[in-house]
Amino acid sequence: MKKISTVFLLMLFVIACKDDEGTTFQIDPDLIQHVNAFYDEAAERGVNLTKSNLVVRVSDSINEDWAGYTFKDDDQRYVFINDDKYMEFKDQPYIIEYMVFHELGHALLNKGHCGSCESIMNGLFFPWEYDPETMRDTLLDELFQ
Ligand SMILES: [Zn+2]
Repeated sequence: MKKISTVFLLMLFVIACKDDEGTTFQIDPDLIQHVNAFYDEAAERGVNLTKSNLVVRVSDSINEDWAGYTFKDDDQRYVFINDDKYMEFKDQPYIIEYMVFHELGHALLNKGHCGSCESIMNGLFFPWEYDPETMRDTLLDELFQ
């Protein structure tokens, strides 16, 4: 039932916000700073992404073990961040950023998971091991290369 209502809301939303190309760009205000940072960090590394075809939101309808979930429907990309994880880490914005960047790696860079790599695209993330002071730049260079 939860899933059905989410899909229904999503459909209403997409219908309400479609642009000329039939796609949507809508970012949850709670996540906009991280999404903007992703575009900025990409541009700084010579990766030019257009702000289109992307919906990013905090969601209560994804697997409780997952930090986030991405799916694509033709050109439209959807990124959902687990609302429980969002609430757990919202006072540590660098953790939220990491989760958003991981999902945007799937959504905008078409990256899959890598095994035991030193990468934001590693499918396993242990927040207590992440030190943005020493790790962020290296991980972002790797993400956008
Ligand atoms: Zn992933």
